[in-house]
Amino acid sequence: MKFIGAHVSAAGGVENAVLRAHELEATAFALFTKNQRQWRAAALTEESINAFRQACEKYNFSSGQILPHDSYLINLGHPVSEALEKSRLAFIDEMQRAELLGLSLLNFHPGSHLQQIAEEDCLKLIAESINIALDQTRGVTAVIENTAGQGSNLGFRFEHLAEIIHHVEDKSRVGVCIDTCHAFAAGYDLRTVEDCENTFRDFERIVGFNYLRGMHLNDAKSEFGSRVDRHHSLGEGNIGNTVFSWLMKDPRFDGIPLILETVNPDIWKDEIAWLKAQQTA
Ligand SMILES: [Zn+2]
Ligand SMILES: [Zn+2]
Repeated sequence: MKFIGAHVSAAGGVENAVLRAHELEATAFALFTKNQRQWRAAALTEESINAFRQACEKYNFSSGQILPHDSYLINLGHPVSEALEKSRLAFIDEMQRAELLGLSLLNFHPGSHLQQIAEEDCLKLIAESINIALDQTRGVTAVIENTAGQGSNLGFRFEHLAEIIHHVEDKSRVGVCIDTCHAFAAGYDLRTVEDCENTFRDFERIVGFNYLRGMHLNDAKSEFGSRVDRHHSLGEGNIGNTVFSWLMKDPRFDGIPLILETVNPDIWKDEIAWLKAQQTA
C-alpha cells in the first residue's frame, strides 16, 4: 500500500497539519513541529499534543504515515564545537517533540563541513550526533535525507548515507529518505525507466531498501548534476513524470510516507490524485 501526501503547514498548531492533510485526501503527510527558521520554540502544550493525536486517529494517520522534518538551522556535522553542540541540543529537542506526538520518524538533512573539515570527518560527526540523540530518546528513527550537494552539504552521494549508517550504533533506528529532486541534481538520473532502475539498483547496492523510511517526490527546476536544490511541480521540471509513475507501481516504495515538497500547494490535491491513479495506470 502506498502512503501519499505533502509537507503541509502546521500554522496555528501541529494539530492543524492533520486536517490540512485530510483535506488533500492524502494518506501521508510531513510537517515541522516548530518554526523551522528559529532555534527556540515553546514546548508543545498538552492540549496541542492531545489534539494532534486525536486528529491522527480520527483521520486514520498512523505514525508510519507521518514524516516530520527538523529545522533548517541544524548542522549535525558542524566543524566548530560550540555550534555543533547547539545543533545537537536542538536535534534532541526535535526528536523529543516527535516522541511526544507519538511519531516514529524524524527527517533531516545530514550536515555541512563548511569547507573547514574533511568530508570523512564531517560524516563521522553526523553519525556521532545521531548516536547521542538516539541515546536520549525512544521510539523515533533518525531519517537521513539525501541532498542536492549544494554548497558544502553532504549526503549527495549514496555512499555518504551508507557511511553515516555504518557509524550509527543502533541500526534499527536509522534510515534514509530519498528526495528525487536532490538525487537528480546530485547526478542520479531519473528521466527514463532505465535511469530509474539503474539509480535504485545503485541505491540497493550501496544503502539498501531495508533502510528506506520515506521519499520526497519533487520534480526539479535545477539541471541534472547541477548540485542546485530547486524543486518543481510533478511533470513540470527537468525530471518529468516517468519516475513518479514508475515509483507508484513498484512495491519497494510501499508502506512509507511519499511526500510532495513541490512548489505549488494549490495543486497538491491534484498531484496526490494523479499519483494514486498511477498505481493502476
Ligand atoms: Zn526533500
Ligand atoms: Zn530540497
